[in-house]
Amino acid sequence: MNQLIDFSKLNLNQMELMFANVKEEIKNTINQIAQTEDLNLSYEICFNKLLVTMNKVELQIYVFEIGKYHPNQEIRKKSNYLRKELSLFINNQLRREDINRKIQSYFYNKYSFEKQNLTEEQVAHVEKTIKEISYMGLTNQLIQDIDLKITNLKYKYYNNLESIPITIELNPDELEGCDQTFKKKRLILSISVFNHIMKYCEVRETRKKVYLKYFEDINLNSIILEEIINLRTQKANLLGFYSYSDLILDKTIAKNKFEVKNFLDKIFNKYNPQESIREIKSYLPTNFKLELWDLRFYAEKIKSEQTNFKLKEIESMLDFESVIKGIIKICKDLYGYEINEIVSPNLVYNSDVKLYSVINQGKILGYFYLDIKLKEYKIPGARVVCLTNKSELNLPIGLLVCNFTSKLLFDNVITLFHEFGHMIHFLSGKRLIPMNSMLTVPKDFVETPSKLFEMWAYSEYGLRQIVKSEYITNTDFSKLSFKLLSHHKILFPIEYSIYLMKAFIDLDLHSNKRIVHKEALKHYNKIFYLIESTPKEINILGAWPHIVGGYGSEFYSYLWSEFNAKRIYEKFKSRENDKKVGQAYIDLLLSKGSLMDFNEQINLFLNLKI
Ligand SMILES: [Zn+2]
Repeated sequence: MNQLIDFSKLNLNQMELMFANVKEEIKNTINQIAQTEDLNLSYEICFNKLLVTMNKVELQIYVFEIGKYHPNQEIRKKSNYLRKELSLFINNQLRREDINRKIQSYFYNKYSFEKQNLTEEQVAHVEKTIKEISYMGLTNQLIQDIDLKITNLKYKYYNNLESIPITIELNPDELEGCDQTFKKKRLILSISVFNHIMKYCEVRETRKKVYLKYFEDINLNSIILEEIINLRTQKANLLGFYSYSDLILDKTIAKNKFEVKNFLDKIFNKYNPQESIREIKSYLPTNFKLELWDLRFYAEKIKSEQTNFKLKEIESMLDFESVIKGIIKICKDLYGYEINEIVSPNLVYNSDVKLYSVINQGKILGYFYLDIKLKEYKIPGARVVCLTNKSELNLPIGLLVCNFTSKLLFDNVITLFHEFGHMIHFLSGKRLIPMNSMLTVPKDFVETPSKLFEMWAYSEYGLRQIVKSEYITNTDFSKLSFKLLSHHKILFPIEYSIYLMKAFIDLDLHSNKRIVHKEALKHYNKIFYLIESTPKEINILGAWPHIVGGYGSEFYSYLWSEFNAKRIYEKFKSRENDKKVGQAYIDLLLSKGSLMDFNEQINLFLNLKI
């Protein structure tokens, strides 16, 4: 347990000191490579020493990552600053011309002799690095300048999102239809609060106000994103590609933009939102002008009418504690993972954060922090963050962050399952070099384990685990699961269409189609929703951290992953607690990191006779 940070001793001086030490250690290791004669270069010198140094410093620098969520504002500020500085420093060091010359010299002279003695992972590490150097233009000054500009813009965009929480002041009568706990004057518009208002608020004016506020363009973030997209295109062109999507999609399961476009078209045809919109319109007076903030409200009304079921019914049977307890039980039944809370106030950075160890067959697999309560300073949305990677030296440590109000919504339950799906993937990895770990699997696979685990929240077995104890004996879980699934399926294309529309816009913007974003949104509103107007204040590019971060031209990955998750779930259907299936899933799909052919492995799993 000595690898976990003691937060009681954390202060700004200590962080500065850590930062200086880490920089020194990295620089020394890199200098050693530079100073070695070409004749004496080896895997040990060019690669392994740096890996070991990075593993060592990882244990210190994860504080800069987790510090973003610290209740102390000074520590948050410092963490953000040091994290950015460190990533720029590491980038500069790794891109040094002299270092890359040494690595190339090793590759072309000594590597073929050493290769037979290297492990599969080490070979992959060397070859991926060489590919990056030549292909990504690591040593090309022009590209380095572009990358630096992109990094700075990215932080600017994130800072805008983080420093200005989206809040709105509403009177209780403006929130008619919403849960009691939402009826305070000032509301933080987290994604689940936003969804709740869109689905249940009877006051149309409020839905409009909230919708516009949610998509407000903070500090003209959309302009920053457009700059980023232009720079990405320039970079791709410099590397000989027509567009950024041509450069990026090469590394995915889909392989190219035509395949992605085909896939999105297929989904669009299968789950055509226009039919759902027509259904909603037929429910309304003929002269009613349907707007974007009406869609989910009326969809929800129709859903409850047709199924005679409201999500409130299930929500009243759950609380956060029962859901988390249930998920932990599922992990034990299905994967044999024992998840235990470590109660030690010094080891968590906030009193409402929990720390867990995960044990598999008597051995510690790793640790994770769970931080789910709503805070104004948290970046919107939920995520799993890798704090340390599994390696010869370290166990993996992860952080699961959400932003939930005290009132549990069924949306939150789905989010928790989703994020635990990521966490299980992260902790189940067997790779020892980060370049081969779960973090580097193709984007169109990353969301598969999380989308898959969501399905447990709808299953009879899953529901039985997550309800509060007083509901276990008298509930018909089979009926409950059926109702939930029916509710989920009705007008489903409306929920899908939001992802689909964003995926099309993302692909267009990164494929040199150069549709100005407002035009793109208008264009897709017509195609998807039969809605003519797009209020000029709406600007989805202003609050879209995914495509600023790692999902540029890969936003389709959510749908691609979901499609594969549905196929994989077939194997688990009615066997949601079957350890044999769970083990096979971990062995074939989760433990191998990025070193596998994804389509092949999925098919192998689907064809297993178990
Ligand atoms: Zn996810």
